[in-house]
Amino acid sequence: MTSIQAATYLIHFNEKGYTELASLIRTNNYSSLFILVDDNTFTDCYPRFIELLETDKKIEVIQIEAGEVHKNIETCVGVWNAMTELGADRKSLLITLGGGVITDLGGFVASTFKRGIDFVNIPTTLLSMVDASVGGKTGVDLGVLKNQIGLFANPELIVLDPEYLQTLSPREIRSGTAEIIKYGMTHDSHLFKEIKDNPKLNIVDLIHRSIEIKNEVVLEDPKEHGVRKALNWGHTIGHGIESYFLESAHKENLTHGEAIAIGIICEAYLSSKVLNFPSDKLKEAKKAIIAIYGKVAILDDDIPHIMELMKHDKKNIGGEINFVLLNDYSDFKINCTVDSQLIIDSIAYYNS
Ligand code: NAD
Repeated sequence: MTSIQAATYLIHFNEKGYTELASLIRTNNYSSLFILVDDNTFTDCYPRFIELLETDKKIEVIQIEAGEVHKNIETCVGVWNAMTELGADRKSLLITLGGGVITDLGGFVASTFKRGIDFVNIPTTLLSMVDASVGGKTGVDLGVLKNQIGLFANPELIVLDPEYLQTLSPREIRSGTAEIIKYGMTHDSHLFKEIKDNPKLNIVDLIHRSIEIKNEVVLEDPKEHGVRKALNWGHTIGHGIESYFLESAHKENLTHGEAIAIGIICEAYLSSKVLNFPSDKLKEAKKAIIAIYGKVAILDDDIPHIMELMKHDKKNIGGEINFVLLNDYSDFKINCTVDSQLIIDSIAYYNS
C-alpha cells in the first residue's frame, strides 16, 4: 500500500509504518516515549504495538478512560500531570494509540505541553484511520459542545495498521463507515456506490481512498476557510444530535458515526429543498444509510434542544447556523443558511 504525503508528514501503511517510526525515533533522538492509550486500546492494541515498536528509549504508558465523555480538559490536565511526574521534557515524543478521542486529545496535549512536543498518531478505529488522525485538527469538547477547544497541529508521522481493526466491534466499524460515506457523497460518488452496493469491500482500499480524499482537501485548505468545510457534510445536524444524546441521561449515547449518519440524511433533505439535490438520490441515500444504521427515535421534544446545540457549531458566523449542502454528489456548496423550520422538517423526514 503506497504511503501518502500529507502537508508536513507521511502516512505509512503496515510494516513500513513501524520501520519509519523506529527511524523517526532514532533520527530525532527523543529523550523518552509516552504512549497514550484508553482502557480498550491498552488491552486490545498495546500488546501488538509494543511487540512491533523497535526502540531502546524509555517508554511510559499513560492510560485514560475510554469514551467521548472523557474527551475534555480535565482529562488533559490528568495527562499533562502524569507526563510531568514521569519526567517528560521537550524532547519527549507522545504516541497516540487509539480512536479519534485519543488522537484528538493526544494531539492537543502534545502540542500544548511545554509549548509543543512532537507526536505520532497510530489510529486504531476505522473512524480515526479514515478521518480523525489525518488533517491536523486536535482538541477536546467543552461540556457536551463538540471540539470547542483545540488547535491545528500536525503529527510527525501516522502509522496506519489495519490489523488493529480485528478487535473493533461491528458497531464501531459502522461508525467509521459514516465518514467514508461522507467522502463518497461529497467527493467520490463511486466510493459511495461501492459502500451502498457491495458490503464485502476491501477495507484497506477504502481506508486508502478515504485518506487520499481527506488529504487532498486539507492540502488545499488546511485551516478550513473554504473547501475543507465540505468535510463537515452531515456534521452540523450530526454534532447537535451527538451532543444532545451525550447530555441526555434518558438517551443511550450514539457513536460519532451514528450521529453523523442521521445528520447526512437530514442535510441531504435540506439539499433537496434549498439546492437541486435530486429527490431520487435523497431517497437512495436515506435507504442505504438506514440499511446500515437502522433508525434512532428523535422525538419532537428533542428537536429544540438539538437546534440549540447546533448554534454552537464552529462553522457558524454571526449566530447563523452554517451548512455545507449538495447540489449533487461531488457538487457541494459551503456557507449555506436555511430556515429553522426546514431543519425541523429534515428531522421529521429522517423519522418518516
Ligand atoms: P473513540 O476513540 O471513542 O473509539 C471508539 C471506541 O472504540 C472506544 O471505546 C475505544 O476505546 C474503542 N477502541 C479503539 N480502538 C479499538 C480497537 N482497535 N479494538 C477495540 N476497541 C477499540 O471514538 P472514534 O469513533 O474513533 O472517534 C470519534 C472522535 O473522533 C470524536 O471525538 C470526533 O469528534 C473525533 N473526530 C475528529 C476528527 C478530526 O479531524 N480531528 C474527525 C472525525 C472525528
